[in-house]
Amino acid sequence: MEPEQSAAILKQLKLKVTPRRQEIMNCLGREQSYLSADEVWERIKPRLGSIGLPTVYRILDELAEAGVITRIFLSDRKQNYFLCANQEGHHHHFVCESCRRVEDVEQCGLEGVSRDIARRSGGRVTSHILQINGICGSCCQGHAGAAP
Ligand SMILES: [Zn+2]
Ligand SMILES: [Zn+2]
Ligand SMILES: [Zn+2]
Repeated sequence: MEPEQSAAILKQLKLKVTPRRQEIMNCLGREQSYLSADEVWERIKPRLGSIGLPTVYRILDELAEAGVITRIFLSDRKQNYFLCANQEGHHHHFVCESCRRVEDVEQCGLEGVSRDIARRSGGRVTSHILQINGICGSCCQGHAGAAP
């Protein structure tokens, strides 16, 4: 992700454009896959110098709350983050457990489920989280070595 893009997204979300936020977004935006907070920290340290890991966590959480980046849930219990190039429209992600590639899933399929839940509980559904895990096509075909 280019600095102008990250600045535009931050402005759109009414978040202050800061070098730290931008650097973290640019770093995640360069990846086709997710990164842990530690990995983000390792990558931005040479450029930002004095930033500490707790600050990286705080900014990642702010950006996740704002919806710019997506938390990726894995069995290792680490916090992982993905910045999707597709910032428009509701969609979900397919995460390869082998090469860490993240692919967009345009189908949601949960509208009906949400309606049913709301009807049965007499309340309302405000959002949902859906992440699909598996092994991507190129890993299934044995091309895992070619993946980044
Ligand atoms: Zn894969
Ligand atoms: Zn996406
Ligand atoms: Zn959905």
